[in-house]
Amino acid sequence: MLVNLQAIDKKNKTAQVSIENAKTVIVLVLTMCILIGLTFIYNFPSLVATPIAKLTEGIKAIAARNYGQRIHLNRTDEFGELATAFNSMAEKLDEYEHSNLSKILFEKQRAETVINSLKDASIGIDTKGIILFANQQALQLLNLKEAAIVGLKQEDVQGKNDLFRFLIKEQNTIPFKIVVDGKENYFTKEQIDITQQENKIGTVIILRNITPFKELDTAKTNFIATISHELKTPLASADFSLKLLEDERIGTLTKEQKELVKNLKSDNQRLLRILSELLDLSQVDSGRIQLKNQTFSARDLIQKAIATTNNAAKEKNINISISMAKELPLIQADEEKSVWVMNNFLTNAIRYSPENGEIILKAEAKDNSVKLSIQDFGIGIDPSYQQKIFDRFFRVPGTQKKGTGLGLAISKEFIEAMKGTVHVESEPGKGSTFTFYLPANN
Ligand code: ADP
Repeated sequence: MLVNLQAIDKKNKTAQVSIENAKTVIVLVLTMCILIGLTFIYNFPSLVATPIAKLTEGIKAIAARNYGQRIHLNRTDEFGELATAFNSMAEKLDEYEHSNLSKILFEKQRAETVINSLKDASIGIDTKGIILFANQQALQLLNLKEAAIVGLKQEDVQGKNDLFRFLIKEQNTIPFKIVVDGKENYFTKEQIDITQQENKIGTVIILRNITPFKELDTAKTNFIATISHELKTPLASADFSLKLLEDERIGTLTKEQKELVKNLKSDNQRLLRILSELLDLSQVDSGRIQLKNQTFSARDLIQKAIATTNNAAKEKNINISISMAKELPLIQADEEKSVWVMNNFLTNAIRYSPENGEIILKAEAKDNSVKLSIQDFGIGIDPSYQQKIFDRFFRVPGTQKKGTGLGLAISKEFIEAMKGTVHVESEPGKGSTFTFYLPANN
């Protein structure tokens, strides 16, 4: 029993020692676990959270166009790679922004310099009606400060500035007057559409100062008017002297002398015709067409024109037939100028018709006008010249007859001044019909 008790006691002590050892080991292991756990808990968030915070910060900076932002992580893991990729993206964006911005700024400045150095006043408007630019000359003419026009809607400026409203509304290109510094200046307006890949992106209005040309033109007109007027008197007296020379009571001329006088007379007549056309032209140019407001019949008009051209028609044995509509209103225009025009068309018809030809004069009512037409069966006019013949000094190339090329130009000006219109229809070799409309007296 004693031996058994001793053995039990010994085993008990051994067990006690083992328990103590196990306890120590467990405490040690537990402490280590807790320590490791605590270290992990303390370090892990900053290990993950710091790079994420830095990346978020970087992305926000990029979004705010701060392309100088860089991320420094000093790590070789995925976060490190992400930071490197971010930095190279920011670098590229930085490069792109700077190169584009400086380029755009440079181009903008260049465009502004070009626009401001233009001598002509220029205004640019986009398709939405926003005024993009107005150079110094334009601002001066409009009498506006840059801030009162650039960047604003054209409707807003139109309401405040009469000249701007006129420039936007007026579509034709006839010269107009603007008083600048107390002096009358003449301008023409040109409107150019700006397109990009066939799409209209805006309009530029350019005002060209044509005052120096206008002054030269006036000087030319006055010069022509004075010269023609001065030359007309001696020529008229030469014409009278030639008539006297033909008179047998003064003395008889030999056959050769008679021939010479005849030639002189026809040259004189031609010169007188040219001079009177030049005088009419200077009247048109100086805007001095003085129109009388008269009422007269188409019959009177036609008869008067025929009376002055009868001799020329007889010389070529040309028959002039008249066709008048039954119910014709009276014409409301300047009678003398209308006869001049009719006479000019008739003279041309005779000149460009063959001998023994035929000319038909027609008068009929059309809407609120009287339509007058002169038809011949002469040489006709090539279609490519039909609109040009109304230009000054234009003569169809190869025209044999002598002339100035002014008759039709003056006729057109006269007709339009009387609120009428003129048209031509013609076929080479078959003949021409000149038609003009004059307002009816209703
Ligand atoms: P001009 O007859 O003095 O040359 P116009 O202005 O009257 O000047 O006419 C201009 C041109 O038009 C003429 O030179 C002629 O070539 C052409 N023309 C005018 N009328 C006719 C016509 N009836 N038939 C053919 N050609 C014509």
